[in-house]
Amino acid sequence: MDFDAIVVGARVAGAPTAMLLARRGHRVLLLDRAAFPSDVLSTHLLHVPAMALLRQWGLHSLVAESGAPPLAGFRMDFGPFAISGPPPAVDGAAHPYCVRRTVLDKILLDAAAAAGATVRESTTVQGLLRDDTGRVVGVHGADFEARARVVVGADGLHSLVAREVGAALYDATPSATACYYTYYRGVAGPLAEIYQLGDRAVVVFPTNDDLACVFVACPAAQFHDFRADIEGNFLAAVGRVPGLADRLAAGERAERFRGTADVPNFFRTSHGPGWALVGDAGYHKDPCTASGITDAFVGATLLADAIDAGLPSDLDAALAEYQRRRDERFLPALHLTRDLASMEPPAPEMAALFATIAASPAESIRFLGAMQGSTPIPEYFAPDNIARIMSTA
Ligand SMILES: Cc1cc2nc3c(=O)[nH]c(=O)nc-3n(C[C@H](O)[C@H](O)[C@H](O)COP(=O)(O)OP(=O)(O)OC[C@H]3O[C@@H](n4cnc5c(N)ncnc54)[C@H](O)[C@@H]3O)c2cc1C
Repeated sequence: MDFDAIVVGARVAGAPTAMLLARRGHRVLLLDRAAFPSDVLSTHLLHVPAMALLRQWGLHSLVAESGAPPLAGFRMDFGPFAISGPPPAVDGAAHPYCVRRTVLDKILLDAAAAAGATVRESTTVQGLLRDDTGRVVGVHGADFEARARVVVGADGLHSLVAREVGAALYDATPSATACYYTYYRGVAGPLAEIYQLGDRAVVVFPTNDDLACVFVACPAAQFHDFRADIEGNFLAAVGRVPGLADRLAAGERAERFRGTADVPNFFRTSHGPGWALVGDAGYHKDPCTASGITDAFVGATLLADAIDAGLPSDLDAALAEYQRRRDERFLPALHLTRDLASMEPPAPEMAALFATIAASPAESIRFLGAMQGSTPIPEYFAPDNIARIMSTA
């Protein structure tokens, strides 16, 4: 075999997987059809657990000093009340950041190369190689072949690796929202601002170059109407947030609008003979919780651990265990994301719970811990914990 692992896709799922495997001495080939630095459709908030993993990987200061400001915390505004505060620190990481993907993905790619992975940019994988038993043993492009003991599809929502192996979806629901975002100068404040106001969500994330990423979501059913007048509908949504239209008018739009209505929620079968999926390829969800990157980092650690443990002995069993652990970890988050993406007003008991949380700074911090994934969601929303919160009202 040429390599122990070939990783297709070199962004937030693929590059850390390759880096972690290379750091453990495995021979890794990391391929991407893009040339880096390269942007991708994404508003790029990094929750504190993602910053903690970057710290563990020795990359925190590179990311934190890349020009994006540390965010003092969140304002999650539901109209009648807002949950605000700093999220809990995790393993020495205290702040969320919103780092442009041109910056973040290049740092991760370079870290994989520095760890010893062979990196090939501008290289498109067109199909998989198989042995006589049907086991995946490599990849090919227009003018190359490479062989490995495991091929990892970190190739995003429309994964070629997933398509080639026929990986099935489960726990799947179609796109519930559509969104447009752009960047403004002179608008960023100290917080990540998230407003859920009827059938519009509006987000302001301060990012690199003194810009703020401003994002608007609507129900998927309204996508065609929205895109008939993107700027008009975008500014109408912004107008629902007190003071934000004035802030944007005083600032300056610095980039074009980008949008999508292709944000389904699903798990995909993510292991089989000689292959595995990580990141969006295996687990995709609506961007409303801004967790895709954080979850891709966690997925990369789970998969790298599994491949490292399985290569000398029983790779297929290790990959099956990887999928089991990933699903156990993320199923509650997938369901919460799906519920939030419905944009339905919360049931009266949930609205009462959120209002009680909003009234308590200490409880707001605990709630933000569940939203960022550092407290397990089932634990936070367990009946005894809800009873505890409501008893403080
Ligand atoms: C509008 C929007 C906003 C979002 N906002 C946030 C947010 O604020 N915070 C957050 O955490 N997440 C956010 N997300 C989610 C996040 O962007 C994704 O979860 C994340 O990009 C997934 O990373 P990935 O590495 O799995 O896949 P991708 O980032 O999609 O990367 C896949 C890579 O594979 C490469 N590739 C694909 N096919 C091939 C091939 N055949 N050969 C070679 N290379 C190939 C592509 O070139 C690409 O570079 C958002 C998503 C959207 C759509």
